[in-house]
Amino acid sequence: MICQEPKPILEISNLHAEVEGQPILKGVNLNINAGEIHAIMGRNGSGKSTLSKVIAGHPAYLISSGSIKFKGINLLELEPEDRARLGVFLGFQYPVEIPGVNNLEFLRVATNSRRKELGKNELDTFEFEELIDEHLKIVQMDPAFLARSVNEGFSGGEKKRNEILQMSLMEPLISILDETDSGLDIDALRIISSGINQLITKDNCIILITHYQRLLNEIKPNYVHVMSSGRIIKTGSSQLALELENKGYDWIDHEPFSKEDK
Ligand code: ADP
Ligand code: MG
Repeated sequence: MICQEPKPILEISNLHAEVEGQPILKGVNLNINAGEIHAIMGRNGSGKSTLSKVIAGHPAYLISSGSIKFKGINLLELEPEDRARLGVFLGFQYPVEIPGVNNLEFLRVATNSRRKELGKNELDTFEFEELIDEHLKIVQMDPAFLARSVNEGFSGGEKKRNEILQMSLMEPLISILDETDSGLDIDALRIISSGINQLITKDNCIILITHYQRLLNEIKPNYVHVMSSGRIIKTGSSQLALELENKGYDWIDHEPFSKEDK
């Protein structure tokens, strides 16, 4: 197979992060090129959500050493909203409810700040309603959800659809989806996976954090990483996810140090 020159989007090098003096990330190395899908698996508490929040710029985490470059730019110097504007998208494990903030308006403001960055015109409410119509189809979402407050009273599956709807509007260069599949029934999982698959291009990339092989049946990763105690301790192909499903994580802990940088 002839590959194009890889275009790095994210380069994480020897990243250490702590919260309230407690080290959580202890030397994460991860490189992601345009067009790639990376899955991150690992036991609860291994640092997966912390890594995603650190990339998005969550203020609770202190970076004690290491670097994160996004298209060559030092991401750690940027505020969370600037990261989002430049094309970093985080789909939360637990999407927050924002009572009193209209979902349509919230999505419009977020989309417009990204559109400005992309050199596209800002949209008024009417124009935005036209644009959002096609995006609603991607996640098979009823327009009635746009009239409600952001995520308020949404079921788990509806919140996850709303996240993917936002992702689709933001046209991110990197999307980090933290357990987007958890709590979904089989139909919702298919809809969400098909939505994500429609949003993958040769120019963007995705990190899928998941516990389950079933998501990776629907969205095929180029690489699967295993996190343990704040580091990536093993990297493999999509085959690795199958192995983990069958054998659990114990065998990796017992292997000689098996980290391969990718
Ligand atoms: P995962 O997503 O892999 O389950 P997390 O990144 O959520 O793991 O958590 C990794 C570890 O960091 C856990 O032990 C968790 O309790 C701790 N941790 C994460 N965020 C905080 C925080 N804000 N305050 C205290 N401990 C935290
Ligand atoms: Mg988590």
